[in-house]
This record gives sequence, C-alpha cells and structure tokens, in this order.
Amino acid sequence: MINIFYKNPVCIICSRKKHKSSAHIIENRLCICTDCYKRLPRVPIPSKGTIHTKYILSPFYYTGDLRNSVLRYKFMGNWAYSAIFARLLVEFIRNIEDVCTADMVIAVPISRQRLNERGFDQTELILDCMKKELPLNYKSGVLERKVHTKHQSRLAGYERFSNISNAFAVRSDVRGKKIVVFDDVYTTGYTMEACAKTLIEGGAREVIALTLAKVPELYDDTGARYIL
Ligand SMILES: [Zn+2]
Repeated sequence: MINIFYKNPVCIICSRKKHKSSAHIIENRLCICTDCYKRLPRVPIPSKGTIHTKYILSPFYYTGDLRNSVLRYKFMGNWAYSAIFARLLVEFIRNIEDVCTADMVIAVPISRQRLNERGFDQTELILDCMKKELPLNYKSGVLERKVHTKHQSRLAGYERFSNISNAFAVRSDVRGKKIVVFDDVYTTGYTMEACAKTLIEGGAREVIALTLAKVPELYDDTGARYIL
C-alpha cells in the first residue's frame, strides 16, 4: 500500500507530517506548519545592547516547542533544521537596515573539541543556509576559539564570563567594520559579549548580536547591560 502522506513535509516544531498547503515554510522534507508559525514566541522589541554590542536581535524567545526544536537540532543530529531556521532569520533581518548594511556577518566559533562531539557546527550551518536567501557578506575564520572552555552550563555566575572572556582571537582585519555576530541561542550573553569584546578591541566599529532565540526571564526586565 502506498502511503499518500509519505512525501509530506514534517514540521520541525510539532513533529507532525503536514500537507504542503498547511506549511508556512518548506525546505525539502521539513517545514514549519502554519499553526506552529503563528504560535512562535516572538520577541516584541530588540534588547538593549551590552558594553560591546549595539543591541541584541532575536526574533524568538527560547521557550516551549521552539526550544525543544533547537535542542533536537543541536543535540540529536537534526542538522537539516538549519534550512528552516535560516529562513526564519532571513524573514526577520531582511528589513533591519543595520544588519543589511553590516560589513560582515560571522558566527560565534565553536571549539574543535565541541565540533568533534557534535559532528557539525550548528551556527555556521545556519549562516550557510542564509547565504542562499539573503546576499550579505558572510565570513568565516574572522574569530577563532583559542581554548576549549568548560560547558558554560556547568558553571555559575561570574565564573561563566571569566571562563569565556579570553577564549577568542581576531584572525582578520576588522578595523572600522560593523559586524553582525550570530549565535543560535542567547542565554547568559557571556559568549556573545566575549566575541564582541574581542572584535571591538581588534578595532571593529560596532557589533550587533543576532541570535535565533533568547532566554526570556533574565533579560526582559533588566536589559542585557545589567547582567554584565
Ligand atoms: Zn507544526
């Protein structure tokens, strides 16, 4: 018997097979269905910047089904989700002038050890997919991760920033440049701040943080500047 649903795409949020007509974004065998798309936890306004970033741009909060989807992407090998996440990000940044006029867009680099554990670089992969959708100056190798840091989640409070603050080095000429730094999720903000600090100290003019999602509780009332 032929299963007529065989070729229908699977929604990366609710994991259900959906008919193409009820999918908002389709990429190969994956989609975001219209229902899930409507319910995505959208961030109403960009977060204030930090000491070294102009602002934190994240289209979504890192909660609920979206969070589970990101976890399946990062830790369960669902690397093909990158194409859908890239489409969502492009929808979001397409009309943000500061991003579209940036001199370069780079990813927060992961360490070689983490790359070996995971098998792929989840942030770089999303940027790779964005290239096909929106022509910006995507660059790799601008920042290098010098040392393998401990998992941030195993450390608390101030330890997290000291763990990461000197982990990066600039490997290209960034002087006078406006740079968008992309990471998948904004949690403590320490990794992003460490990248931004390294770039600014290397002569970059401005750093804009872009992430697919951000943890809601810590930042909305206080602003990211407060935690640093
Ligand atoms: Zn869905």
